[in-house]
Amino acid sequence: MKIATKYIHAGTTPDPSTGAIMTPIYQTSTYVQEAPSVNKGYEYARSQNPTRHALEEAYAQLENGKFGLAFSSGVAATDAVIKLLSPGDEVITAKDMYGGTYRLFSKIFEKFGIQFTYVDTTDPKNIQDAISAKTKLLWIETPTNPLMNITDIAAVSAIAKANHTLLCVDNTFASPYLQNPLDLGADIVMHSATKYLGGHSDVIQGALMMNDPALREQLYFIQKSCGAVPGPMDCFLVLRGIKTLHLRMQRHCENGKTIAHWLRQHPKVAKVYWCGFEDHPSYAIAKKQMRDFGGMLSFELKDESMEAAKKLLSSTKLFALAESLGGVESLINHPASMTHASIPRAQRIANGLSDTLIRLSIGVEDVDDLIEDLNNALN
Ligand SMILES: *Cc1c(COP(=O)(O)O)cnc(C)c1O
Repeated sequence: MKIATKYIHAGTTPDPSTGAIMTPIYQTSTYVQEAPSVNKGYEYARSQNPTRHALEEAYAQLENGKFGLAFSSGVAATDAVIKLLSPGDEVITAKDMYGGTYRLFSKIFEKFGIQFTYVDTTDPKNIQDAISAKTKLLWIETPTNPLMNITDIAAVSAIAKANHTLLCVDNTFASPYLQNPLDLGADIVMHSATKYLGGHSDVIQGALMMNDPALREQLYFIQKSCGAVPGPMDCFLVLRGIKTLHLRMQRHCENGKTIAHWLRQHPKVAKVYWCGFEDHPSYAIAKKQMRDFGGMLSFELKDESMEAAKKLLSSTKLFALAESLGGVESLINHPASMTHASIPRAQRIANGLSDTLIRLSIGVEDVDDLIEDLNNALN
């Protein structure tokens, strides 16, 4: 089935009680049973909910996986994956990644005895060299937030298989429309559904997709035991968002491409980070594993002062200054003080994330209006 058809129908079947074409919001905490343990497969809503179930089916289909699981946020989904591990186990992960993931690894899980080794994953050899007998999980993000670095998913999954470790890919930036890591050999895909999947800046949610039934059982056990489940209204919002994912992504990609090229030739702009430029260091890999290049980009001004960055950040009118990304409206963000403030400054700078880097989440407005807004703010 082609993507457009799949996204419209994924997970939703007419409701058996009324024929409602859209899955109802089953706002209930419990289900009446005929006799102890004689029921319709629903006992208690932390464990099962029909709205969530429909969404989890959709999640599986979006990533060409057998199973999907929904969590109350992207970081709750990440938290569940790390809970597969035991004290003494090691995770090899990227130096350059979402600040909240780094905070969860370094400030929460390290104290429970899980070890994290941070390498430059854009060269898979660095992962291979870091692997030890304790390595149980490889965690990568591609493209990275906010520097748009690309890691070769197929190459890393070959390393994971050869060394009997799991590979989880944070696919938030690409969305399932652009990239499907399970098809490239990953064991688990993670999404912050808050971003492109929800797509309308009105819900916080996370997703995991996988193929292995045993892995699904372990993650489902963690989901119900730890309880970071989304409510039915939030599941409904993401189910609804998914139906237009392909339409939104087409426009995000078109607008992203136009603005990336426009910014690059602007006299006040020093550097644009966008993985669709043919001279991007990993362009060939991006082209191989992604269907298009998305609507996220970052840039630096020629004027490296904080005043210049701050002036721009507060001068746009259509681009709202806000954290988050992937919604229909365009956002402008200052990673050093906002989304990535939880990474220590020295480390952030060493990873290439400067104090004055500006990140854009290009929305689906008319691109001429977006360019006019940026142009006014830059001048
Ligand atoms: C936002 C984000 C997360 C965290 O998701 P939440 O839904 O905010 O908990 C993880 N990874 C990436 C790449 C993100 O952008």
